[in-house]
Amino acid sequence: MTSAFDYVIVGAGSAGCTLANRLSADGRTRVLLLEAGGWDRHPLLKLPLGWGRVLLNRMYDWGYDTEPEPEMNGRSIEVARGKVIGGSSSINAMAYVRGNRADYDRWASRGLPGWSYAGVLPYFRRQESWEGGASQFRGGDGPLATRKARYQDPLVDAYLAGAAEMGYAHNDDYNGAQQDGFGRMQMTIRGGHRESAATAYLHPVLGRRNLAVETGAALLFISHDLSVVRVIADDVAVMNAGRIVERGPVDRVWLAPEEPYTQRLLATIPVADGLGRLPGAA
Ligand SMILES: Cc1cc2nc3c(=O)[nH]c(=O)nc-3n(C[C@H](O)[C@H](O)[C@H](O)COP(=O)(O)OP(=O)(O)OC[C@H]3O[C@@H](n4cnc5c(N)ncnc54)[C@H](O)[C@@H]3O)c2cc1C
Repeated sequence: MTSAFDYVIVGAGSAGCTLANRLSADGRTRVLLLEAGGWDRHPLLKLPLGWGRVLLNRMYDWGYDTEPEPEMNGRSIEVARGKVIGGSSSINAMAYVRGNRADYDRWASRGLPGWSYAGVLPYFRRQESWEGGASQFRGGDGPLATRKARYQDPLVDAYLAGAAEMGYAHNDDYNGAQQDGFGRMQMTIRGGHRESAATAYLHPVLGRRNLAVETGAALLFISHDLSVVRVIADDVAVMNAGRIVERGPVDRVWLAPEEPYTQRLLATIPVADGLGRLPGAA
């Protein structure tokens, strides 16, 4: 065994949770998922109506803002990005919109053959459990629950009636045969709770013995030219040519893929029982 993990995934967001699920599905491949933020336990992350407060209070957010924009009258614009298990899918607006068929086909025509609409459709179908069940376009038994918004507001009805009055087509399913038209939003919600990449892909498989998740673990850098990454007491020392160039707590993770000490470093992070450790690792 040359490594404690076959894969180290940095960031437990939409992509990271999905990858962690898929890569560890065989029960053998050892996967470590590192997340800079904490667990997604706060009730406001569960309640769809809590979204506004999460966003306004910049909760579980990296806190980025743009530089003042001259074109926006000098204002800085908030650029929310999730910092929590589930990543941005734990703080997003839950709208389920796959995108336009023409965009995928254009990417394919410009050199990404697998990204045509026909190429991605099987993955969309595999991903979701649509409340209306499986069809040519929709999935019926995937991990991610999707449904129409049930939000009741006379304004929604008036808006749809107004569109019809102006001659625009009604579209009962904009993730179906065609995207154009007016209709109700579709949401990633399960049983009245937010469905994030974490609730869909990560939480259901946390019991896998070959999957470890570490929160509060921010990857600081990946280096190919470090000579040594060493653990000294509770500190990590990043060394180059025998000299310490950086020092910090062990919950801040350095990776140097070619470097045997990185494997020791990963093995010092307290991971779930049952995962392979390097012989002699702390
Ligand atoms: C406020 C808001 C509303 C949105 N609304 C919608 C919507 O309604 N519908 C929709 O489809 N999309 C929406 N999105 C977009 C969608 O949520 C994102 O495109 C998607 O979640 C991005 O997935 P990702 O895996 O690329 O990144 P993320 O989900 O953001 O995951 C990145 C993860 O990596 C972690 N991370 C970053 N750096 C490090 C590091 N150095 N070490 C360890 N961990 C690290 C982060 O903390 C985070 O958890 C919204 C996004 C936001 C922020």
